[in-house]
Amino acid sequence: MTRGSVDQIYRDQVILDHCRNPRNQGIVKFPDITGDAVNPFCGDEIHIQIRLGLDDLISEISFQGEGCAINIASGSLLSDYIKGMSILQAKDELVRFTNHMRNTDSGIDDLDESLGELSVISQVKKFPVRIKCALLAWSALDDGLAN
Ligand code: ZN
Repeated sequence: MTRGSVDQIYRDQVILDHCRNPRNQGIVKFPDITGDAVNPFCGDEIHIQIRLGLDDLISEISFQGEGCAINIASGSLLSDYIKGMSILQAKDELVRFTNHMRNTDSGIDDLDESLGELSVISQVKKFPVRIKCALLAWSALDDGLAN
């Protein structure tokens, strides 16, 4: 890979910060929803626990991730992003973000404003082989919401 490669992503301050200090690491006791995803190809793993509060809003979320920096950062960003959302909203965001990441024809900035901090993950679209790493957390969420 040439310069201006995937290393750029690892140097991104937001990614670095979420990778070194992942958010929402405290285990949720008695979760209402649990989801898991594994990518045997690169050894990434992610496990999500969610506890619902009033009106089925996501009141607590935690995750455990192993593997590459993009996977950990993505899990951390996801957990911050969907906290406080309803299950329905989280499902909508899951579809929206997954489509956004898989649609490599569209620009990397097309959704940035509405994604907030999560938009940094859009950079991964430039490296299609790593998109799976970025989406593994969302697969875990999908797994949890499907049950
Ligand atoms: Zn990975």
